[in-house]
Amino acid sequence: MTRAHAGVVWTDRFLDYDFGPFHPFSERSRALGARLLRSVLAPEHPTRVTWTESVKVAARDTLRFFHASDYLDFVERASGLAKEVLLDAGDTPSFPGCYEAAARLVQGAVDALDFTLEHRMPAFHPAGGLHHAHSGRASGFCIFNDVAVAVARAMRAGHRVAYIDIDAHHGDGVMYGFYESGRVLDIDFHQDGRTLFPGTGFPNEAGQGDGAGLKANIPFLPGVGDEGLLAVFRRIVPALLRNFRPDVIVLQHGVDGHWGDELASLQYSPAAYAEIDRTVLTLSHELTGGRLMVTGGGGYRAESVSRVLARAGLILAGGSVPDSAAHLPAAWREEYAATFGTQAPISWADTPELAPSPWTHDEERRLVAQLEAALGERFPLAGATTGSPT
Ligand SMILES: [Zn+2]
Repeated sequence: MTRAHAGVVWTDRFLDYDFGPFHPFSERSRALGARLLRSVLAPEHPTRVTWTESVKVAARDTLRFFHASDYLDFVERASGLAKEVLLDAGDTPSFPGCYEAAARLVQGAVDALDFTLEHRMPAFHPAGGLHHAHSGRASGFCIFNDVAVAVARAMRAGHRVAYIDIDAHHGDGVMYGFYESGRVLDIDFHQDGRTLFPGTGFPNEAGQGDGAGLKANIPFLPGVGDEGLLAVFRRIVPALLRNFRPDVIVLQHGVDGHWGDELASLQYSPAAYAEIDRTVLTLSHELTGGRLMVTGGGGYRAESVSRVLARAGLILAGGSVPDSAAHLPAAWREEYAATFGTQAPISWADTPELAPSPWTHDEERRLVAQLEAALGERFPLAGATTGSPT
């Protein structure tokens, strides 16, 4: 019997999290990612993935792991109204049933976390990763913070959590939520807050109290792509994780850093996402006995989101990743076209259309030096000797 290699949480009820046709955030692109993953797995490896297809609405006690009681009351009231009200300063409206829809996404994260803790294999929740919601307020399309609730739940079970966030936006809800915790290592790569919402996440924000030195913020200027992301990721992530020795790793896998995204201005490619997925998977084998939870996140270009998330699921499940030029399944392409009213992509990845990157070796030196000063660690170049005789 072949053992399942990963768990994936998906139910079409996640599509209930819907701000309407004119709002940029849509679970439909994540749905197409889950469909693509299923269609390429099914014929070859029916047992490589255990699908969780029925997800409850998270109980209030579960939401309380992270969220304030009066905020839950506020969302519940707004959720019962026929008319829309704003849940934050402007980007996150209510809709009828929004409490239940957001709480179901939270339960998806909890189910994924429990799966990986129990089975010691990766668990993937592509609909989740709503990292902006704070304990007491909505923010940036995020009503409840599913990933923060899962982190809090892992901590309550006595675990040390390494949280890695590659969304183009700073994961402020998670970082500030555990800013003083010595049990959460938070590493966040994002577009510089001077150029993008939510405006936070600078290297000198390194944690407080027990959390001092455990929050790593890596801001990139608009236009930075794989060359910046991978250079810094390779230098700092394995080193920080090996020092911290987490019990479980959580990866927020937003895809809005992909080149061509509608809301952000970074230029990551599918190859960079794949390298990160493989690296984090390998680190989970080395450090946490296989306990790894991966969520989705932002991403505002459906053709990038669906394909990158499907590829991430394939990597987590131990499947082989199709060549960039390999054609996507015809039935999936038809569903994509029907869903979005546009032509579906033909193959797994397109030739990137990139603007010049502002990344330089000087910029890398400057950024890594800032991180070293803030975190009290050294991040030598691979192969470089530490310490100098002169
Ligand atoms: Zn984002």
